[in-house]
Amino acid sequence: MPSPFLTPGSTAQADGLALLHLRRDQSIPTILRSYDDENQGYDEGRVENTRFGSFPHSTLINKPWGSQIIASVVDTGSRGRKSDAAKKRKADELDASGTTTGADDEKSSLKKPVSASSGFIHLIAPTPEAWTLSLPHRTQVVYTPDYSYILHRLRARPGNTVIEAGAGSGSFTHASVRAVFNGYPDSTAPAPKRRRLGKVCSYEFHEPRAGRVKEEVSQHGLDGIVEVTHRDVYEDGFLLDDPKTGRSPNANAIFLDLPAPWLALKHLVRNPPSGTVSPLDPSSPAYLCTFSPCLEQAERTISTMRQLGWLSITMVEVNHHMIDVKRERIGLDAQGVRGALVAPRSVDEAVAKMRSDENRTRRFREAEAEGRSVEDERKTLDKEQPAQTPSEIPSYGLGRLVHRTEDNLKTHTSYLVFAILPREWSEEDEQKCREKWPSAQ
Ligand code: SAM
Repeated sequence: MPSPFLTPGSTAQADGLALLHLRRDQSIPTILRSYDDENQGYDEGRVENTRFGSFPHSTLINKPWGSQIIASVVDTGSRGRKSDAAKKRKADELDASGTTTGADDEKSSLKKPVSASSGFIHLIAPTPEAWTLSLPHRTQVVYTPDYSYILHRLRARPGNTVIEAGAGSGSFTHASVRAVFNGYPDSTAPAPKRRRLGKVCSYEFHEPRAGRVKEEVSQHGLDGIVEVTHRDVYEDGFLLDDPKTGRSPNANAIFLDLPAPWLALKHLVRNPPSGTVSPLDPSSPAYLCTFSPCLEQAERTISTMRQLGWLSITMVEVNHHMIDVKRERIGLDAQGVRGALVAPRSVDEAVAKMRSDENRTRRFREAEAEGRSVEDERKTLDKEQPAQTPSEIPSYGLGRLVHRTEDNLKTHTSYLVFAILPREWSEEDEQKCREKWPSAQ
C-alpha cells in the first residue's frame, strides 16, 4: 500500500495511518481498521474514544482528507455492559487524560461516548510535521525547525540516500524519507533507465526502540524506502546486513543524533580498511550533520572531523520561537458589537466610551424586559450614534500593537555541526572532464 506520508491520495484508507485532529495542538495518530479483532469484528470497525465523542473507524475510512467528522453514539453490547460506577470512573479518567489512543488499550474498549461535550474532529492526512507532534515519544526527538534546516543543509533531495543514527522515536526518519522519496520502484523500466529511488538507512542500538521504528515504518507503508538496522554504530559502522562484508548504503547525506558522534566518524571514510567497502556514495560529496546538546560534544566532533579530512566545518544553533503580534483591543463595547475595535486615545474618550457602553447595555436590557426586539433597539441606537466600521477606523485606532513571545520557550535544542567530505577525484575522472570540456584545459 502506498505510504500516506508520501502519496496520501484524496481519501483516508483502511489499514493506513490517519490523524484525528482534535485541537490545534492535539491530534491522535491511528491506523484505520475496518475490522475490530479485539472485539470480534463489530460493523463499525474499531472505535476511537476522545473527549469530543466516539468515532468508529467506519465513519473515517474512505472519507476525504480534511473532512469534519461528527461523533457517533456507539453501543457495543457486552463490552458496554460495565457497572455504572465503572463507566463513570472510566469516563472521568478519559476526561482527565483527554483522549484514548487505539483499540489496544483498555480505555478504548469503552465504546460509549465518554463526555457530554460530544462534538467533531477533523480527519487529517499524516505529514512528518504532524507526526513529530503526535508520535509516541521514546526518546528526545528532533523537531521541525531543526530538521527542516538540517535537511536543507544536507542537500537532501529526491533520489538521495540518507544515513541516520540513532533512529530514536523516528521523528527525523519521517522527515528525511519525504525529502529523498523519488517514487516507487518501477520494475518494468530497463535497468539503465531506472531512477535512483531515494532511501533512508536508519540505525539504532536499543533493541526495543529499533523494533518499534521497524513496526512504524511497516505500518506507514515505508518498507523498502526506510531500512532499519539494529546496530551499535560506534562499533560496527553503517554497512547493511553484515557489518564487515555487507552492502554499502551509498549515502550522500548523514545525520548523527548520538551521544558521542565522534566515535562513529571513523566508519564514514572513503577508503576503509581492506575487505570492507565505504558506506558513502563514491560519485558525490558526503554531507554530514551531527546534533549535540553540549558544546564539549560539538568540540570533540569537530576535532575528529578535521583529523578525518572533513571540510567546510560549521556550527549552527537554531533558535526558533514564535512571536505573537496583535493589537490590544482596549474598550470592547458592552455587546461586543459597536466600536468593538476602537481603542480610546485619551482618558476623556475612554470615560465617554464607558458611559456610552453602559447606556447601550441598559437600553438592551430594558428592551428585552419590555418584550421589544433587541435588534430594533440596536438600530435605533446606531441611528442616534452611528458606529464606525472597522474599515473606517485608522490602524492606530484598532488598538495598541503588542508582541509576546510564546510561553515555555525552549530556545536551545542542540549545536548542529555540518561538514562536507569531497568525492575522490581520480585520473579517470580528470580524463572524462577533459573529453567533455576540451576548451577548459
Ligand atoms: N533523531 C531521533 C528522532 O528524531 O526521533 C532521536 C534520537 S535519540 C536522541 C538518540 C538515539 O540514539 C537513542 O535512541 C539511542 O538508543 C541511540 N543510540 C545511542 N548510541 C547509539 C549507538 N552507538 N548506535 C546506534 N544508536 C545509538
